[in-house]
Amino acid sequence: MTTKRPPTALEKMGLNSPMALALHLPARYEDETELFTIEEALALGRFHSIQTQGIVIRNQVTFRPRRQLLVTIEDDTASLQLRFLNFYPSQQKQMAVGAHVRVRGEVRDGYQGAEMVHPTVRAVVPEAPLSASLTPVYPASAGLSQTIIRKAVLKALQDASLKESLAEFLPTKLMAEILPSNDWPPLQDAITYLHKPPADANTQSLLERTHPAWRRVQFEELLAQQISLKRAHAIRRERRAPSFENEAQKTTSIEDGLLKVLPFKLTGAQARVWSEIGLDLSNNFPMNRLLQGDVGSGKTVIAALAAARAMDHGYQAAIMAPTEILAEQHYLKMQEWFEPLGVQIAWLSGSLKAKEKRLAQEIIESGEAQLIIGTHALIQDKVSFAKLGLAVIDEQHRFGVRQRLEIQQRVGSELFYCHQLMMSATPIPRTLAMTYYADLDVSVIDELPPGRKPIATKVVKAARRDEVIGGLHDWLTKGLQAYWVCPLIEESEVLQLQTAVESFEQLTQALPNFKVGLVHGRLKSEEKAAVMAAFKANEIQLLVATTVIEVGVDVPNAALMVIEHAERFGYAQIHQLRGRVGRGSADSVCILMYAEPLSLAAKERLQTLRETSDGFVIAERDLSLRGPGELLGAKQSGDAMLRFVDLQHDAWLIELAQTAAERLLAEHSDLVERHLERWLGSRTEFLKA
Ligand code: ADP
Ligand code: MG
Repeated sequence: MTTKRPPTALEKMGLNSPMALALHLPARYEDETELFTIEEALALGRFHSIQTQGIVIRNQVTFRPRRQLLVTIEDDTASLQLRFLNFYPSQQKQMAVGAHVRVRGEVRDGYQGAEMVHPTVRAVVPEAPLSASLTPVYPASAGLSQTIIRKAVLKALQDASLKESLAEFLPTKLMAEILPSNDWPPLQDAITYLHKPPADANTQSLLERTHPAWRRVQFEELLAQQISLKRAHAIRRERRAPSFENEAQKTTSIEDGLLKVLPFKLTGAQARVWSEIGLDLSNNFPMNRLLQGDVGSGKTVIAALAAARAMDHGYQAAIMAPTEILAEQHYLKMQEWFEPLGVQIAWLSGSLKAKEKRLAQEIIESGEAQLIIGTHALIQDKVSFAKLGLAVIDEQHRFGVRQRLEIQQRVGSELFYCHQLMMSATPIPRTLAMTYYADLDVSVIDELPPGRKPIATKVVKAARRDEVIGGLHDWLTKGLQAYWVCPLIEESEVLQLQTAVESFEQLTQALPNFKVGLVHGRLKSEEKAAVMAAFKANEIQLLVATTVIEVGVDVPNAALMVIEHAERFGYAQIHQLRGRVGRGSADSVCILMYAEPLSLAAKERLQTLRETSDGFVIAERDLSLRGPGELLGAKQSGDAMLRFVDLQHDAWLIELAQTAAERLLAEHSDLVERHLERWLGSRTEFLKA
């Protein structure tokens, strides 16, 4: 039977069965069981939402800095401002002076003192009764109100089919042996409890998701995820890849040649990761390894060594980067290292003329090109390789897991896959690696090349800009170079360009004895490349840039970086940017200039960045702030493989789920499918990728 009607808002969210609705658990709860005076709310309502009420004594629309509605409410104890940046006339009316309203929200410090921004508001009589139990708040979408979802969920929970779909089938014995305590309710009870917490429920543990009912659900979800990751692991081992034995001892090898032309010795950490990677490459199934190392730790040479090994066996290697600038840096480096050894390199860039592109593709397809370098998009989509043995993907977290490369090739009748090496300067905390990356082996370069000086980071008010420019003058006079980074302006690319141009003009005027260059995202790629080349050749002493220089650029003589409006950058961005300096012999300095007023979060961020340049510390802070989805790249946040687990706090649960997954696969393989289907449904395909 087919229906022609358009999908409802519920169906669009995938909430199309009683089971889907049952598993659509509250994102949070609102505690409308308690009411506080405004004075109490001001004290207790920081960082979490709180309920209070009062009489409206002011209701005013202002236009500075933008149109907004300001409402003040008051009770016997104090008054509180409510701020609405978007509002309907009906809301304005609801909060007319003299109205009595009950509001719920977080209290923050605004320009005019404590306030709630966009609280939920209900007009009530002062003695309106409080809810008896916590109110669930569901993940929703535009056009789908909480009321609709709540109704649908409650109806679904009555559905007879749930008895079957939520039936307990994990072996009792196994559960008893693995679970830490026996107060975890059966699955169906847990789910009902979470949707309809009873009046006497432990509020705190429900809100924090530590309640046994939450634990039960989290465990099941993690179990499904661990099973499917372990499977992916097994599937990879069944795939074939060319096996590359170590040939470095052969003096005719490219690998040996590379080691001889390198102007430095590998650090201990580099040697260690290289032997780990070398071992992977000797396997006859595809490597899937992430090479982590802080900015400047020397990942490029490891990529080159791996490429050399593949080429020594008659296979092609490809190195991909997210941006043209970064890809070009790799191209220049590889030319320097490999061309003297007679290696044929193909360069694929978006800015190549059609004919050049065709030519590059021809030599890649014929096998004449041994090493291929370009941006990820270019290489992945349009190229057919003669015999690709290794793909290196730099800064892979920017692409997201989903875009992992799947190049299958045929030699004679045999199908084979290439080895893959991902490289990233964004450290991935252990808890994340254990879940998202269970089928990804990880190597870490935890040592910087010798002679690196720590970067002195200073935090300076924008009001001292002239002083900073004075210092910059002295710096350049010493024959050193510097970067001046202008911030991303999210609302407007035009505005962003404009501020960069303004800074460029001001600095050009203030530093007449030096050549100032400008590079930004709107330049054509050959223009960008020309500016970067001039900077590298010291024809430009000061490079004004937008965030396009964020990754990969390597100019050792540039050891000073000024970052304008540093308060607008995130942790990872500043860390990456700052990694551009500190590569030469000069003492390196990074100046973080900020404009006031500074939010609490920005203040803490700048302070942390001043105190540490340890990428792992910074990543942990970042994770606690933003959550894993964002850390791994925007691509993944929408997928949210784990809906109910907090990776930060539930790490111990992951270990439990790992053990359970191993035992289930070994002892009860018949239950595995059923469990996966229940938890992941259509998402299993994604996990196998
Ligand atoms: P990243 O890990 O950020 O990609 P790079 O590979 O660009 O770092 O290396 C940063 C700089 O350190 C480069 O100039 C590179 O030539 C240099 N380098 C790498 N390994 C060593 C080493 N073992 N000794 C000295 N310098 C090194
Ligand atoms: Mg790099």
